[in-house]
Amino acid sequence: MYHQLVTLALTAAIVVWTSASVAMPTVGENILTVTNSHSWKPFAFVEDGEPKGLLVDYWRLYGDVNQVPVEFILSDWNDSLEHVARGGRKVHAGLLYSSSRDHFLDYTLPLFEISASLYIANDSEQLKTPNILPEMEIGVVRGGYEEEYLKSRYPLVKLVGFDNNAKLIEAGLNGQVNRMLLDTQVATYYLSQRTDPYQFIPIDILYTKMIYAAVPEDNEALRDEIIAGMKNIPQTEITRIEQKWLNTSHVFTVPGWVWPLGLVLIALVTFSYIVLLRQTVQRKTRDLKALNKKLEAYAFTDSLTGLLNRRGLEKMFEGRKVKALMKSRQLAVLMIDVDHFKRINDNFGHRKGDEVLIGLGKAFEHSLKEGIALSRLGGEEFCLLLEVKNRHHLDAVTEYIRCRLVPSASQRELGLEVNASIGAVLVDTKRGHLSLDSLIHQADKLMYLAKAAGRNSVKTKSLSSEGKQHHAFGVLS
Ligand code: GH3
Ligand code: MG
Ligand code: MG
Repeated sequence: MYHQLVTLALTAAIVVWTSASVAMPTVGENILTVTNSHSWKPFAFVEDGEPKGLLVDYWRLYGDVNQVPVEFILSDWNDSLEHVARGGRKVHAGLLYSSSRDHFLDYTLPLFEISASLYIANDSEQLKTPNILPEMEIGVVRGGYEEEYLKSRYPLVKLVGFDNNAKLIEAGLNGQVNRMLLDTQVATYYLSQRTDPYQFIPIDILYTKMIYAAVPEDNEALRDEIIAGMKNIPQTEITRIEQKWLNTSHVFTVPGWVWPLGLVLIALVTFSYIVLLRQTVQRKTRDLKALNKKLEAYAFTDSLTGLLNRRGLEKMFEGRKVKALMKSRQLAVLMIDVDHFKRINDNFGHRKGDEVLIGLGKAFEHSLKEGIALSRLGGEEFCLLLEVKNRHHLDAVTEYIRCRLVPSASQRELGLEVNASIGAVLVDTKRGHLSLDSLIHQADKLMYLAKAAGRNSVKTKSLSSEGKQHHAFGVLS
């Protein structure tokens, strides 16, 4: 009865002729039947009705090299063993050695190395022990060497058997078992093709062994033929096949969460970059504005005294304040020229001369509450715009400048006396806006009159509405 069932199962198993090796063999033509599992990836499996895998390639190569027609019968693991056990020109493509199998099989040469690992579900920390304990449930392939290994070493373990690796791994992934003993290479191959390849992880390698080809027991001739045939296969070809299935067929699948995470990261980096860019642009714009202001200030400032230069004076003259003062006849323009300044330079040195100019600038700046714009036009010539109430006020201010502010730049301990001649005009006209040049010109003329009058003196005048000028009068020192 049992044998009948096995025969039925074998008939139902997938029988595939090799397509590559030789022309279709006819019965009696010395066919070698190669058996193995139909779901032992990457060693032997069936895909699209075709036998595939490392061992299939190996035995095809065997057929080619030795001119032997080869057929494959790939079935559940137990059936593959039974099939060879029944005798005939059959070879088991590759399996681990065990003494129980040795009763009905004769082993030939070692083929490839294989290891078995204990795999555990990667979802519970308590499971993560490499120890194999009594009563522990472990999934195995029925008839597989792993089953035999556990039975003999851990008799109290509860084995849960499955027909083949595919079914066992599927059961693990569906939560039926949370521990499995699997060939590492096989499990790696199956799990790497999943979207979550880490649902099960290997926690301990239990053994590493060679797999062998095996023929039915007591068939010396076949055993010798197979051994001789295996020796004919070049090692380079074996290495090529091995690399094809064990190294390069690893399929890397990107976990599903990588893409959204990647997008979020890219968005974050872009956002940060934009924010950073905006901040940098804002900072640079601020710096540039400050720099422009500084440059503008430099352009309008006399570098020695810190007062305005001619350009600065012109700018101030165009301002609203000056226009208003002109309208209300309250604007005075003063030209101040240091007397015998050349002598100061000559007698005390250029540096002392500079100190005098700086001292004058400070005195004007700190003590003239009437000051609207204070400038040095060049050399030892100053031009001041003052807000004055009337002519009388102007006379008082100019006199104050001549006899108090200008001499304050003296360095009497050195015998350095500073005096200046001053020409001043009060804008007293309804003729509209007068030009700065003409006002300076008028004040300059008065200043030269003051020089001519003996220096250290002041000449002022009003520019009247009719263009007539009040007579200039000097204030003598
Ligand atoms: P006056 O009373 O007629 O005005 O005679 P002065 O010597 O003051 O006039 P002058 O124009 O003959 O000489 C002006 C001198 O001022 C000549 C020049 O070397 C000097 N000077 C011009 N700019 C500067 C400056 O920035 N620093 C110093 N220390 N001297 C200067
Ligand atoms: Mg001068
Ligand atoms: Mg001078």
